[in-house]
Amino acid sequence: MILLSDPQVVGIPVQDCGEPLAEIASVPAIALDSRERDEDGAYGRVRTGVLERLSSASERLPNGVRFLVIEGHRSSTEQARRFALYEDRIRRSGITDPVDLRRRASAFVSPVEVAPHCAGAALDLTLIDADGVELDMGGAVNGHRTGDEKYCPLDAPGLSDRARRNRDLLARTMGDAGFVNYPTEWWHWSYGDRYWALVTKADSAIYGPA
Ligand SMILES: [Zn+2]
Repeated sequence: MILLSDPQVVGIPVQDCGEPLAEIASVPAIALDSRERDEDGAYGRVRTGVLERLSSASERLPNGVRFLVIEGHRSSTEQARRFALYEDRIRRSGITDPVDLRRRASAFVSPVEVAPHCAGAALDLTLIDADGVELDMGGAVNGHRTGDEKYCPLDAPGLSDRARRNRDLLARTMGDAGFVNYPTEWWHWSYGDRYWALVTKADSAIYGPA
């Protein structure tokens, strides 16, 4: 498993294609959740190419199932704040070695320079039914914040059959549209960022911090 703190990730060159950020709400089939809403609404935007891919993935979902996006773009300031916060939490659990601390923190929160959300390239999302109720994914989006790390990895063992099927549906739909998953977080998918470039063996990332 490659983590975002891996030197290979930061070693990937970025050739930003310059695409603007677009409003996820402009695609009516995709639902947007306000739980991570920020002051200027960055959470509701991604690069236009990312939104196009999400939109085409959405069309391939079974009838009555929709995407619920929790978060898209994130400012570098906000990313740095979250990283420091999570490092503090781990430090309080007794880990003080700076290298170990950084490695553990970046399992769940990306260092700013390689953060897929800061590039407008990542989506945190889940699935909802026709009534807007979240499907059973065997764990909450951002479960690491509430100490529920066990079921965060996409391939977490011990899930119910139903949760496994729902995760498989999300993975198949997003994967077919060209997104890659960050394996420690079932809800996190990205396209065009450095992590994506490393996993798909692309020569460079097409989206850098935006
Ligand atoms: Zn994410």
